[in-house]
Amino acid sequence: MSMQEIFNRCQDGSYSAQDLKTLLGLQDAGDVQKLFDEAYRLKCQEVKPLVRLRGIVEFSNLCTKDCYYCGIRNSNEFVERFTMQKEEILAAAQWAFEQQYGSIVLQSGERSDAAYVDFVEECLLGIKELSGGKLGITLSLGEQSEETYRRWYAAGAHRYLLRIESSNPKLYSSLHPDDHDFAQRIESLDRLRRVGYQVGTGVMIGLPGQTIDDLVNDVLFFRDQDIDMIGMGPYITHPDTPLASQKAQLDAKERFMLSLKMIAVSRLALRDINIAATTALQAIDPTGREQGVQAGANVIMPNLSDIKYRDKYHLYAGKPCTDENASQCRGCLEERIRAIGEEIRYNEWGDSPHYAKRAHKKD
Ligand code: SAH
Ligand code: SF4
Repeated sequence: MSMQEIFNRCQDGSYSAQDLKTLLGLQDAGDVQKLFDEAYRLKCQEVKPLVRLRGIVEFSNLCTKDCYYCGIRNSNEFVERFTMQKEEILAAAQWAFEQQYGSIVLQSGERSDAAYVDFVEECLLGIKELSGGKLGITLSLGEQSEETYRRWYAAGAHRYLLRIESSNPKLYSSLHPDDHDFAQRIESLDRLRRVGYQVGTGVMIGLPGQTIDDLVNDVLFFRDQDIDMIGMGPYITHPDTPLASQKAQLDAKERFMLSLKMIAVSRLALRDINIAATTALQAIDPTGREQGVQAGANVIMPNLSDIKYRDKYHLYAGKPCTDENASQCRGCLEERIRAIGEEIRYNEWGDSPHYAKRAHKKD
């Protein structure tokens, strides 16, 4: 079967799980390049040769959860815990606004106590005020009640990232302690959609015990959940986590390539969504995010946190740029994006066309 036949089926939506598996399993360097080229062509067609920026503020590493893979899990006693002051968060947002970034992301460990929910709400209101409502805000703050999601939406957030981590319930439960429930995760995604957020999800790639079939099902899951955006990247071991004791089946280079293929295949299958080239790609290869864009991604999330905090927010080992402040990152990133023939589009929220169509259907 030729690759072109599979591309044609992706074009009209008639692709099968086997088609996606064939693409994810490509090994020949020439074939893999053809996959990336097709995904990049489609990216340019669906979301233009543009990169959208989301400045990310990782404002607290306090977490009540204990995910087996994550460096800031509650039980990791080696982590020095911090929470940024509201003024610091607003200053980061102000900087992003002045730099004409269209959007920012607020991310932290997971908490759902009243003080935290209030704090996030206040920050959202503050960011909306300082930018006259112009700065778009994505949240990545884990599972919350519908009431909390509603309050934060009302305060100005309009996108939410909640990764499914793996769409295989068995694999999901092997990555989390018993207080995590796969059905609850799905319910949280449903809640977000009900409230009106643009919904993003994603998975880690190259997890111990994960198969190519799991990844195929992840892409089908993204499609069936009708999601608007994807943030996914390679799993990277953190030495102070339980999962570190399980031997990775793929080496870093293989996890990196598989992540690029997942970006490309997701672009072919889902077409008009936003896909992020995540920092975890860059942690393995210094040009990882650019390669992500060239494999079909259209969003990059530069880090806005002060370097004094960045060192304490290590979800995985080898996080890049922890010694560069946001302004240094900006210059370096622009150069890199221009070098691959893409343009950064400033001052726009940069919603996915998929969301616009979904919202329109609802009206
Ligand atoms: N607490 C929030 C947001 C912070 S974690 C939440 O869990 O949603 C954000 C993402 O980091 C997680 O969804 C997970 O996919 C990713 N992550 C955590 N540990 C990782 C690791 N070791 N390698 C790669 N990604 C990891
Ligand atoms: Fe906490 Fe998120 Fe890390 Fe899980 S992945 S331990 S919820 S920060």
